[in-house]
Amino acid sequence: MGGNEENYVAEAFKTNWIAPLGPNLTGFEDSIEEFLGESKRVAVLSSGTAAIHLGLKILGVGAGDEVICQSFTFSASANPITYLGAIPIFVDSENSTWNLDPELLEDCIKERIKSGKTPKAIIAVDLYGMPFMADEINAVANKYNIPVLEDSAEALGSTYKGKKCGTLTSLGVLSFNGNKIITTSGGGALITDSKEIKEKAVFIACQARDEAPHYQHSEIGHNYRMSNVLAGIGRGQMEVLPERVAARRANYDFYVKELSDSKQVNFLDEPKGLRSNRWLSCIVLPNFEVREKIRIALLKENIESRPLWKPMHEQPVFKKSPNYLNGVSSELFKKGLCLPSGSNLNREDLIRITNIIKNNLHQ
Ligand SMILES: *Cc1c(COP(=O)(O)O)cnc(C)c1O
Repeated sequence: MGGNEENYVAEAFKTNWIAPLGPNLTGFEDSIEEFLGESKRVAVLSSGTAAIHLGLKILGVGAGDEVICQSFTFSASANPITYLGAIPIFVDSENSTWNLDPELLEDCIKERIKSGKTPKAIIAVDLYGMPFMADEINAVANKYNIPVLEDSAEALGSTYKGKKCGTLTSLGVLSFNGNKIITTSGGGALITDSKEIKEKAVFIACQARDEAPHYQHSEIGHNYRMSNVLAGIGRGQMEVLPERVAARRANYDFYVKELSDSKQVNFLDEPKGLRSNRWLSCIVLPNFEVREKIRIALLKENIESRPLWKPMHEQPVFKKSPNYLNGVSSELFKKGLCLPSGSNLNREDLIRITNIIKNNLHQ
């Protein structure tokens, strides 16, 4: 926490705004809108997953539709496709950002159209805080007139050619889960181009209650709005977001400085014009055996590190879903490791971590 969160939460208690309604909600949304710019409108919700679900609903995704999703991601990117009875189609990543590969995306779209169905939407992810190749992906999507939802759950504070992540397409998603760069303990947001779409999102998120003195409903709603108490935490967190990004980027720079002498450790550099919040610092090792050796050596010292995301096309739950692969995400899963990346790591922590890694590379 940054410091001001408790004051905003106390204000919610003092004024008795303990509901999915109130001044902190509006204040939190205003501060995100101001941060993102581009005249974007933001609806804060109960989670990033809820935001993806609502976003797909707003794009008109329904039962039997096909939705293309980046395979290299956390399962929450893809799960909401199935909530709607739609079919996920997984597409692999390219090597420069680890996100959706534009060429493979086009191959996939062409083949889906040939087999009779135009995909209803595309989910592109800014994985680990690195923006996806928005110009290339948007060009392909526009060519076939398919909307792109940007899953920016991990990338608040990142930029693509000067534009904030979350605003790279007409519909973006943020997460404020406990593990993200800023948190409300749990929460998310949908970022849209218009006041009307924001209002529509809030309407569905508040049980789709029609205007009437009694309770009346013309469509199915959800209970997806954020509470005014948690939005108070979010207001305080927005005040420290730039510090959090700086701290995460400093972790990454430290790892690069200490480890890149070893030819065995590879990093994901920022392509020109892209700036990552470095939510997690990731390294890629020569093979699975070295990756495991380092992970276990750290664990022995009570330091947690984690393999990179296991791609969706390798997940048992999605084994029947169609996929378009080039081997990139499977290789990264085998050889990649997320190092400790918290904004509160100190220099001593970082030295301890890098020493263990170095000792296990030289042997
Ligand atoms: C965290 C995360 C989500 C889901 O957000 P929640 O707020 O935890 O529901 C979605 N996509 C990605 C890539 C994430 O990392």
